[in-house]
Amino acid sequence: MRYVSTRGDLEEKRSAQAIIKGLAPDKGLYVPTKMPKLQMEFEHMSGAAYNEIAFRIMREFLSDFEEEELRRCTDGAYDEKFDTPKIAPLVATKNAFFLELYHGRTAAFKDMALSILPYLLTYSVRKEKEDKKVVILTATSGDTGKAALEGFSDVSGTEIFVFYPVDGVSEIQKRQMVTQRGANTHVFAIKGNFDDAQAGVKAIFNDEAFATRLAAEDYKLSSANSINIGRLIPQIAYYFYAYIQLIDSGKIVSGDEINISVPTGNFGNILAAFYAKEMGLPVKTLICASNENRVLADFINSGVYDANRIFYLTSSPSMDILVSGNLERLLWHLSGENSWEIARCMTELETTGKYTVSDKIKDGMSCFYGGFANMDKAHAAIRALWEGEQYLIDTHTAVAYSVYSDYREKTGDGTPTVVASTASAYKFADRVIECLGLPKPENEFDAIDALREATGIPTPAGLRGLGDKKIIHGDIVAKSEMADIVEQRLSALRASVN
Ligand SMILES: *Cc1c(COP(=O)(O)O)cnc(C)c1O
Repeated sequence: MRYVSTRGDLEEKRSAQAIIKGLAPDKGLYVPTKMPKLQMEFEHMSGAAYNEIAFRIMREFLSDFEEEELRRCTDGAYDEKFDTPKIAPLVATKNAFFLELYHGRTAAFKDMALSILPYLLTYSVRKEKEDKKVVILTATSGDTGKAALEGFSDVSGTEIFVFYPVDGVSEIQKRQMVTQRGANTHVFAIKGNFDDAQAGVKAIFNDEAFATRLAAEDYKLSSANSINIGRLIPQIAYYFYAYIQLIDSGKIVSGDEINISVPTGNFGNILAAFYAKEMGLPVKTLICASNENRVLADFINSGVYDANRIFYLTSSPSMDILVSGNLERLLWHLSGENSWEIARCMTELETTGKYTVSDKIKDGMSCFYGGFANMDKAHAAIRALWEGEQYLIDTHTAVAYSVYSDYREKTGDGTPTVVASTASAYKFADRVIECLGLPKPENEFDAIDALREATGIPTPAGLRGLGDKKIIHGDIVAKSEMADIVEQRLSALRASVN
């Protein structure tokens, strides 16, 4: 298996090289040159543990990893760090199956990939005999940052930098990040939104002079964002795992079609579902759910991507994104690997904020349904599900559930549907409390306690006592200062070592 850039650089890379680099030199994203087809029947996966499924899926993509290396990665990642041995349990409700992806340390689905990425990166560095220290730059809309910090904290040979939008994350998300321990962790608020943070990180990646100066100090940049193929590949596994759980519980038989509904921001999670479909998972419709920042819903329905619009801060902050990075990979696959068209679209996006895709791509998107739910709708869905079935979902999952309900009403499609449940309700406790019609506590930390009292559902370990933890990372920087701050920190580290 080899990887090339979406934008035309045809130099093929091994997976380890693509994982170390993160972003391709021509600013494109690494994509697999062929889509592996799953070699085995689903019946043969019945009852398998999560790490086993992850191993079987990932080995198709990471063919340069020895089986034993990959086993160490999957076994090391998916262990007692998760608060259930199922790792990603599937919960049946009346109308949908919720795939709970939030049982890791940070209570959001980013743990599914970021608990394994440090292993993949460490083995990649060893395999490629990379002797420089890896500097991981991460832009976050709230959840990636903490999951990346947890994953990489004190991993030798790495330094990790996280940039989050100063007013664009919840109080809980912020507190999780600014209290992070680990000598190699660096966290900054930036004055801007997530798109600014992501653009800033990409700009650093594309600055050759910067990379040269860093190399002189024995550092090399990599990424923990879903632009890194090492983030995306582990995410494919849980869709297979959901399907196997459906078979094992007698809800479907092998070969039956399912739908998958995903609360979408940077398009990583739903792209992993698309990859699963391409590998042979019987998926009928991929439901791409947006909040008020409905740029993807409009794109899927029109073929015109237009980021020139009002940016809304919503109760699902991890989806408050207007430039969805991973869409570029989907377009490349659907265009028939036409990197010329992708380069054109991405240049237009950078210069005008807008592009229109070819009919070929538009036709290829027919397996996607794009919809959106505003806050009122999503909040009503949380309340209805809790009052009707005592099942609690968070504000992001509520968007996916709500859009799925619309889809079902509109199309009459009764295919069993898996809703990706991307965060614990506790992570957005103050919003969820309001949705349930309970009085609003003074702050988000009190809301965690109030939600536990109201529902009796245990608080995830990582969120307990958060309000009392010591703040370690308090810096706020301008967008224009991101590169400088990275360089200063690294030079200071270097100086303190020498
Ligand atoms: C990151 C995130 C999303 C969006 O996922 P993408 O892969 O960026 O589309 C949705 N919900 C939660 C809770 C998240 O943390």
